[in-house]
Amino acid sequence: MKYQPVIGLEVHVQLLTDTKIFCGCSTTFGAEPNSQTCPVCLGLPGALPVLNKKVVEFAIKAGLATNCSITPRSIFARKNYFYPDLPKGYQISQFEEPICQHGWLDIQLEGEALKRIGITRIHMEEDAGKLVHGELSGGNDGSGVDLNRACTPLLEVVSEPDLRSSDEAVTYLKQLHQIVTWLGICDGNMEEGSFRCDANVSVMPVGAEKYGTRAEIKNVNSFKFVKQAIEYEIQRQIDLIEDGGTVVQETRLYDPNSGKTRSMRSKEEAHDYRYFPDPDLVPLVIGPEWVERSRRELPELPEQRQQRFIVELGLPPYDAEVLTASRGLADYFEAGVAAHGNAKAVGNWIMGEITRGLNDNGLVIEACPVTPVQLAELLKLIDLGTISGKIAKTVFDEMWRSGKSPELIVAEQGLVQVSDTGAIEAIIDEIMAANAGQVAEYRGGKEKVFGFFVGQVMKASKGKANPAVVNDLLLSKLRG
Ligand code: ADP
Ligand code: MG
Ligand code: ZN
Repeated sequence: MKYQPVIGLEVHVQLLTDTKIFCGCSTTFGAEPNSQTCPVCLGLPGALPVLNKKVVEFAIKAGLATNCSITPRSIFARKNYFYPDLPKGYQISQFEEPICQHGWLDIQLEGEALKRIGITRIHMEEDAGKLVHGELSGGNDGSGVDLNRACTPLLEVVSEPDLRSSDEAVTYLKQLHQIVTWLGICDGNMEEGSFRCDANVSVMPVGAEKYGTRAEIKNVNSFKFVKQAIEYEIQRQIDLIEDGGTVVQETRLYDPNSGKTRSMRSKEEAHDYRYFPDPDLVPLVIGPEWVERSRRELPELPEQRQQRFIVELGLPPYDAEVLTASRGLADYFEAGVAAHGNAKAVGNWIMGEITRGLNDNGLVIEACPVTPVQLAELLKLIDLGTISGKIAKTVFDEMWRSGKSPELIVAEQGLVQVSDTGAIEAIIDEIMAANAGQVAEYRGGKEKVFGFFVGQVMKASKGKANPAVVNDLLLSKLRG
């Protein structure tokens, strides 16, 4: 029998607010345990939560960017469960009437048609604290509770079970990641858990109408692991069914070391949590003016910008996609185009030398030592014939290292391209005299030797000879 996988993702997006969702404590990562706490996030009886407006603004932005409608009257609910990192005994979340509903993202897999993935809902909630095992501050061994993370604002983005393969799931996830980082509402750091994903996976016989029973794989923290975890889980379920077993609804953990998922607990149902509206928080009313203001403030999104790069700047679709990978990269590119004018040339340098430099040094574009204006100056030197494209790479490396302007580097190191025919002719004559054998071969019809001569001339001129001039002169001299 053939099986059809069905996947739905629940993504937790940690919001980039300075303070927590219901109190004024800092959200900075990595502080001394429990140093960023107060009666509210410690869950002390009688302490009252106050909603952080920034969280609402970020949630609305996320909703609008994913085609959701914004719920006019949205409700906070208590999700009751026990765990040592949750001192209140409940998490403040949203259940009925989440802030955003009924959205979608269109994903595109290579060689396939655009596919619409439904977004059921986006709701706001607080994060829990963290359990720390091993050596604790103070030097004792044991387990401790760190409540710095308690009450950190999260959005949970829940997709419809519309995904049909691990590749579709990863594409959707990457797109969502791009949007929330582009909006500046999340730093997107998956290792630190700022963007984490639970994958719900089931399989059904191809052609079946009813979905199979799903397993939920918790907290997978890289795109690669999401793909591996889903693929392992699909195969596990198929093998189980083929062996006559049945899939049980449960929560599973992915272990990147073994590449396997294993059962953690049987999955609870919503009613197990005894959700009810939180009496400490009034309903959140969001009027149409607020939504409209947010819509106006929304930046141009990756999709739109990609289209504009293709239509207005004439970029090939591939280049437009690469150059809109992040908002910073797109901004850099546009600043370069504003200073130089040739979008294709600027794009090539960013996708080539700049990207290589950033990768080699583990830098993001915002920290690029060469500014877009400096890059444009370098390209102008090539346009003017002052330096060759090859020498430009040497100049670029020096710009990267020293931060000097390209003109200064060219002047200091005497890198100006030699286009003077007299000087180049002299070099060619010398090389032809020293390689009479190859000259004869060329004249005897072995045209491949031409490349050898070009190489020799460029080497003798230390790369500074104008390649076009070298070509012309070599041709006429060799043909004699
Ligand atoms: P819970 O919050 O208990 O995990 P939800 O009803 O909110 O339950 O569903 C969570 C996720 O599970 C959603 O992303 C949804 O698309 C996905 N899902 C639901 N049913 C299935 C299924 N049969 N197979 C795969 N995914 C599913
Ligand atoms: Mg879930
Ligand atoms: Zn606090």
